[in-house]
Amino acid sequence: MDWMLLNTICSIYLGVPYVPQAPPAWVEAGPTETDLWITRLTYEFVVDRSACDKCQAPFGRRLRLTESRNGSGTWWITVGARCRGWRRHRFTALVTEWGDGLRFGEWV
Ligand SMILES: [Zn+2]
Repeated sequence: MDWMLLNTICSIYLGVPYVPQAPPAWVEAGPTETDLWITRLTYEFVVDRSACDKCQAPFGRRLRLTESRNGSGTWWITVGARCRGWRRHRFTALVTEWGDGLRFGEWV
């Protein structure tokens, strides 16, 4: 997604409207550092304002992000979190690429 950020910034400075494009050939399939940063920031915001649906304890602030890929170029990020209750319930959410953006899944 870094290439898209670059395109957007260039279009802002050049004053031309942004036109979504397919990723260039040099873009490898997989989450970029920007994807990981946005994912971590988003879920840090969510866990800071959520509670466990099993014991109502707040979430711990520690997140675990795991990148995964399959052979067809599809990738996803698994976000893991635990509540701070005595059972430390475990939750995971999937983040996938959707169109030219990211789709943030719900806690499961
Ligand atoms: Zn819990």
